[in-house]
Amino acid sequence: MCLRRLLQSAQLQRAWRAVFVKHGQGRHQGAWRWTHSGGGTYKAVIFDMGGVLIPSPGRVAAEWEVQNHIPSGTILKALISGGENGPWMKFMRAEITTEDFLQEFGRLCSEISKTSVPLDSFFSLLTSERVAKPFPVMTEAITQIRAKGLQTAVLSNNFYLPNGKSFLPLDRKQFDVVVESCLEGVCKPDARMYKLCLERLGRQPSESIFLDDLGPNLKAAASLGIHIIKVHDPETAVKELETLLGFPLRMAVPNTRPVRKTMEIPKDSLEKHLKDLLGTQATGPLELLQFDHGQSNPTYYIRLAKHQLVLRKKPPGTLLPSAHAIEREFSFLCSGRIMKALANAGVPVPKVLDLCEDPRVIGTPFYLMEYCPGLIYKDPSLPGLEPSQRRAIYTAMNRVLCKIHSVDLKAAGLEDYGKHGDYVARQVQTWIKQYRASETSTIPPMERLIEWLPLHLPRQQQTTVVHGDFRLDNVLFHPETAEVLAVLDWELSTLGDPLADVAHSCLAHYLPSSFPVQPGLSDSDLSELGIPTAEEYFRMYCLHMGIRPTENWNFYMAFSFFRIAAILQGVYKRSLTGHASSATGEQTGKLTEFTSNLAWDFAVKEGFRVFKEMPATKPLTRSQHTRARPQSLPRTPGMRSYVTSTDSSPAHISKGALVFSPEGLSPPVRELYQWLKQVMERHVYPAEPELQHHQTSAEKWTPSPLLEDLKEKAKAEGLWNVFLPVETDPEKKYGAGLTNVEYAHLCEVMGTSLYAPEIFNCSAPDTGNVELLVRYGTEEQKARWLIPLLEGKARSCFAMTEPQVASSDATNIESSIQEEDGFYVINGHKWWISGILDPRCQLCVFMGKTDPHAPRHQQQSMLSVPMDTPGIKIIRPLTVYGLEDAPGGHGEVLFEQVCVPKENMVLGPGRGFKIAQGRLGPGRIHHCMWLIGYSERALALTKARAKSRMAFGKPLVEQGTVLADIAQSRVEIEQAQLLVLKAAHVMDMAGSKAAALDIAMIKMGAPPMAYRVTDRAIQAFGAAGPSSDYPLAQFFTRARALRFADGPDEVHRAAVAKMELKRCS
Ligand SMILES: Cc1cc2nc3c(=O)[nH]c(=O)nc-3n(C[C@H](O)[C@H](O)[C@H](O)COP(=O)(O)OP(=O)(O)OC[C@H]3O[C@@H](n4cnc5c(N)ncnc54)[C@H](O)[C@@H]3O)c2cc1C
Repeated sequence: MCLRRLLQSAQLQRAWRAVFVKHGQGRHQGAWRWTHSGGGTYKAVIFDMGGVLIPSPGRVAAEWEVQNHIPSGTILKALISGGENGPWMKFMRAEITTEDFLQEFGRLCSEISKTSVPLDSFFSLLTSERVAKPFPVMTEAITQIRAKGLQTAVLSNNFYLPNGKSFLPLDRKQFDVVVESCLEGVCKPDARMYKLCLERLGRQPSESIFLDDLGPNLKAAASLGIHIIKVHDPETAVKELETLLGFPLRMAVPNTRPVRKTMEIPKDSLEKHLKDLLGTQATGPLELLQFDHGQSNPTYYIRLAKHQLVLRKKPPGTLLPSAHAIEREFSFLCSGRIMKALANAGVPVPKVLDLCEDPRVIGTPFYLMEYCPGLIYKDPSLPGLEPSQRRAIYTAMNRVLCKIHSVDLKAAGLEDYGKHGDYVARQVQTWIKQYRASETSTIPPMERLIEWLPLHLPRQQQTTVVHGDFRLDNVLFHPETAEVLAVLDWELSTLGDPLADVAHSCLAHYLPSSFPVQPGLSDSDLSELGIPTAEEYFRMYCLHMGIRPTENWNFYMAFSFFRIAAILQGVYKRSLTGHASSATGEQTGKLTEFTSNLAWDFAVKEGFRVFKEMPATKPLTRSQHTRARPQSLPRTPGMRSYVTSTDSSPAHISKGALVFSPEGLSPPVRELYQWLKQVMERHVYPAEPELQHHQTSAEKWTPSPLLEDLKEKAKAEGLWNVFLPVETDPEKKYGAGLTNVEYAHLCEVMGTSLYAPEIFNCSAPDTGNVELLVRYGTEEQKARWLIPLLEGKARSCFAMTEPQVASSDATNIESSIQEEDGFYVINGHKWWISGILDPRCQLCVFMGKTDPHAPRHQQQSMLSVPMDTPGIKIIRPLTVYGLEDAPGGHGEVLFEQVCVPKENMVLGPGRGFKIAQGRLGPGRIHHCMWLIGYSERALALTKARAKSRMAFGKPLVEQGTVLADIAQSRVEIEQAQLLVLKAAHVMDMAGSKAAALDIAMIKMGAPPMAYRVTDRAIQAFGAAGPSSDYPLAQFFTRARALRFADGPDEVHRAAVAKMELKRCS
């Protein structure tokens, strides 16, 4: 179900109301008094009477039949069966007297029901004052329509009463025209009735709206060109009419409604209580309405004589711990010292009159306050206001929040109003507890947040009065200006961190406009509306408060949404124990999920902030130097130089340094490194058995949910896309901006687990493709492919190798790319295409020949091919020593007449080799870095095993050959590691081209090294070694495969030799 529909369901709207729009005084849709939009094209509204302005005779009849044991539907059948010339219609046209009608119609009813029908009693009921009472909502609407200068009319099929007057229990003054069938001798749906009415109004059909509850009457009106509204119930009809007219129709007490059946309170005992409280002048009927919102703490409007009050009560039933603290809110609002303190700070609050805790009065505790006629803006986009007015509203709201936070605790004697310090930590725990108390199933983002929030608490917090639920619709504004008349709903107020209030007041900025009842702003153009963005709002707050904007704003937003999600979950749980159907219950649950995902997005942003804020890494600040060649040395032709790269400045060269060990990393990168190790220990290694299990389960060709979850965690820790080197992405637009050496240290740690590279979005072949797109992609290609890849939402593959040719020599590639009518048509047979089987794989970077006659290295081109392009046929998954590497796998694929637009060409035709060099730059040594990690883990496992395992009376570690193997492995790892670091360093200093020899050396050295080290480890483990109980077998097969997967050892060897021979002796 799409979110929009999900959010529109009535159950969700109720749920949302209950938590987000708890209560309020005059809530209304916008300050229409500021700007008056009028009724547009409509000039008159015409009302039917029965069923529209007063209860329908049909409904009255149905109730009466039940009470009088008359077969249900008798009256309706009599009415229909009589037709145009039946007694009912004749009576409406005054063709028969009341007496005749009662006789004739009574007889008809008796015939139909086969029983005697006492029609007199029905007629008395129908025309009684008790029943024939105008609907207040309609009366209100008529008042508003007339106040806007529009005309109103009644068009009624009515009759004469026995006293000779026509039956019209309405206030005639409310209508410009009244057309009564009994006076005119014509009934609806006769067109003459409508024409008469329009004529008297002096209006065209198109200028009028007609409301009726009966289809034939509406049909007749519509055929004349009158706009119609079918009335099922008056409330809904008024809302529809409001939409058509474009202005509110319920202004008497804005946003109130008759008290819901389930929310009724005993009027008599309340009235008595109020009369005692207000004194003897308080006489007259008690008018009780309910504010639209508020299942949380139901809120009522009361009018008694000249008094207008607001009553707030606890909801009935079992409540969550510490929720609905009516008494606390009351004592807050009634405390003289608090009132004084707020008044001194300029914070207006409603005037509270009484707290009643006696359950005998209305069943639950409640308190009363004075009704303050003002406006509450329910819709944060403030429809109907000018941009400057909207800005004024938000500024006023921001100011009043500053005032709340500026209350002098000491001077106000409020130091004991709550605990000092650790507010956010306590709040996090409170809401975790609340959530757990109402948890119904595992919601992954909630689980992640429950872990993440306590670990990322703000280090410094101020303590002020906090409102606890500060948002636009808890602020009552003056109807004509942006003046704040009162801040409402202090139920959650306490002492705490003021920034929590600021973040909470920005929630609407991140919610969609379709969010139930409380629309949000995330899909609105704020600058057009004149509404400050959340960031501007926050800066505005800081400016008023004279504080520096906090860095971890995203944490506060994550917490605020987490809290909302926890509250929604509470509502959901309650809905399950109530009457909600399972379908709607499920939808409410999705609302929790939606908000928890929003919370998690902020946690992720916070993670990104942490790593984005690391100072740009500059290799020149290293302390441990290697043999950087000074620029002043004469360059011999053919000699490898660190200064040939254009993007390497002399400054880099003279000061360049190689960081051999993580301890030498700059403090922020060292911190990142340490953090990575902790995350590996805490999350990655423990997850390995389950991840491995997934790879052999029936779901193996779908992504592992656990891995996806770990990816989210990694994002939130800022451990994401750290592979993209600063030289490729100097502005740190896409990655962390690490140097290759810095990443080498991190990559080695990731290499210790087969799953880690993907968890941190640093896995092949995506890393190479990302680099390719960053370097050579057009803006369109970046938008389409790069962003989803960087977000970890999509995966990609690289298609070069072909079964029929020796692909270690890429010039052999035979696949063709031919230009046809503005498209490229691809044909070819590829295999060993890693990742192509992954359902997330959206992009294939395809290498083929565009011009077989061009010079050898200009024949090839690379194309970005969407995986859903017709003609891509996966023939089979290939296995590496029996392993499938699901879900990405390695596929054999046919490309048959695959057609892509010309814009999909990367860099340009014939540039495939150039790209391959770039793509295989840093990306080429990532595998080597991982191989060091594989080897380190294999050696660590070997050491642990050799110490604990006994053979021939002593531990393995004391057996000479095992010792020798350990020593050999350590030396080989160390050699390879230094070579990797050196290659990375040269790339940092002088670029990939200059590092060609170092890259070739490490490509030649690392896979066989890892192969040998893991082989020794397997040997030391005995039969357990090749089993899947340890990662050794997989390390081994990968290391073995990498002896040709990134180009065969021999090819790298040949390259090293060639370059070596070119060097000066
Ligand atoms: C696990 C795995 C994943 C892979 N992923 C991808 C991928 O995602 N995309 C992709 O396009 N390809 C991929 N490949 C394919 C890989 O790139 C090729 O296997 C590699 O380039 C070698 O090509 P080839 O298999 O055609 O071997 P050939 O070119 O046929 O070479 C076979 C053997 O000949 C010898 N040889 C070749 N050249 C020389 C030489 N100059 N001197 C001496 N001996 C030589 C070597 O021993 C070599 O192993 C993958 C392979 C594996 C095993």
